[in-house]
Amino acid sequence: MKDTRKYADRREYMIKAVSKRRKKLREMAIQYGGGRCALCGYDRCSDALEFHHADSSKKNLAFPNRV
Ligand SMILES: [Zn+2]
Repeated sequence: MKDTRKYADRREYMIKAVSKRRKKLREMAIQYGGGRCALCGYDRCSDALEFHHADSSKKNLAFPNRV
């Protein structure tokens, strides 16, 4: 059966789905990093956290596409 849905029909759904996925990946990244700021231990609001490689020489460019 041919899928006749257009992007316009699914726009709202797609926007929400991407937003939900980004939020989930962010949560996973926070848990992976210990659930708190690696420098000062701050853990009150996850929205305040940002992500960087603490040691850029250990950066794995293949992650997460190819672990
Ligand atoms: Zn901090």
